[in-house]
Amino acid sequence: MPGERPRAPRGTFDVLPPESERRERLRALCAEVLAGAGYRYVETPVIEHTELFVRGVGEATDIVRKEMFTFADKGGRSLTLRPENTAGICRAYVEHGMHKWPQPVRLWYWGPFFRHEAPQAGRYRQFTQVGAEALGSDDPALDAELILLLREILERAGARHLRLRLASLGSPATRAVYAEELRQYLKQREQLLAPEVRERIDKNPLRAFDSDHPSTRAVMAQAPRLLDRLDADDREHFACVRALLDAVGVEYEVDPTLVRGLDYYTRTVFEFESQALGAQRGVGGGGRYDRLIEELGGPPTAACGWAAGVERILLAAGDQPASESHVDVLVATVDAARAARALTLARELRSLGLRVELGDSRRALRRQLRHADRLGARAAVIVGDDLQLKRLADGSQVAIGGAAEVVEILRTQDPSQVGQEAS
Ligand code: AMP
Repeated sequence: MPGERPRAPRGTFDVLPPESERRERLRALCAEVLAGAGYRYVETPVIEHTELFVRGVGEATDIVRKEMFTFADKGGRSLTLRPENTAGICRAYVEHGMHKWPQPVRLWYWGPFFRHEAPQAGRYRQFTQVGAEALGSDDPALDAELILLLREILERAGARHLRLRLASLGSPATRAVYAEELRQYLKQREQLLAPEVRERIDKNPLRAFDSDHPSTRAVMAQAPRLLDRLDADDREHFACVRALLDAVGVEYEVDPTLVRGLDYYTRTVFEFESQALGAQRGVGGGGRYDRLIEELGGPPTAACGWAAGVERILLAAGDQPASESHVDVLVATVDAARAARALTLARELRSLGLRVELGDSRRALRRQLRHADRLGARAAVIVGDDLQLKRLADGSQVAIGGAAEVVEILRTQDPSQVGQEAS
């Protein structure tokens, strides 16, 4: 549109410094925590065949019914921008025969996801998830491990006022019997239910627990609970998960109404919320999906995992103190003829562990120094006939012999700020 300034599409956003740097730190924290527990990083495509999500996430879910960005490729095949990653990871597990790898296969990911939702604070159309999946074991210790890892990330990221809700959905067979019981219960009270709940009684009656509609909530408060209908194996599995969490001191609430918006879950489900957030307070959640890999054509494979929203973690952590400058030293030159010397010196300083920006040698020295000030650099090295180090805090200037001396002077000036040792 001529004349109109381009804008990012609705529900999407640019991530600029310093926010981008906060995100990088969160990513590094996730990598450290997850790699430290044996989880290995994977990437899967941002586009998948639409069918994968219809089969994997479930036809009756909001995600598949309303929220997918779906388009046809030039050959007329339906593709979808991934709304979540468990289906993609399971597809990759089957496609690459990962059942032959040592089990369980522990994987983690970080990347963009897309849902066509009404944007609001904490809810976007493109957002970032970090996630972990452990495929190939039904050991309740894995459920506990995954919950602990997510909790560690959230706590170390500074997410405030966390609450963990936990439940078990049992097996698909128990769920089917229970769903029928719930359906009958709902049908007998149909006139009290919100229209969208009524519409879904047949397809997905469990979602009625998610409704905010007051009289639906009143009906649901009395509804039969899946947790009371679990079979012996599932009850025992859930008891093990709980005993492990108790043993390591993780606080949680058993919430029999916890329903996650994806159909593939079996047994354990959990969700971390932050009371520091508004309506969109889920920061991350997950659970077991012991049937999904088989449904996607693989061998029967129990698996468990979670995904957390990066934007929501950062929101829940609140404003952080302004970070220090991103450069230590600006290398300035008295004239353009010294550009090569400046380039070399900058490299030497970087190899000694400093963060170094190069001044614009075509500009007057005065302007280069002003630039260094605006960057918040601690010092400028001025390349002329000799080398001068100018401390920006007090404007003092000394002649120096070379790069090593810069590091020495900065370290004695404030040892805490020259932390990065040469590698
Ligand atoms: P889910 O895959 O729905 O279980 O979501 C896992 C986590 O991703 C949620 O707890 C949120 O933190 C985050 N999330 C999901 N949808 C969005 C969205 N539209 N915008 C921002 N974050 C989201």
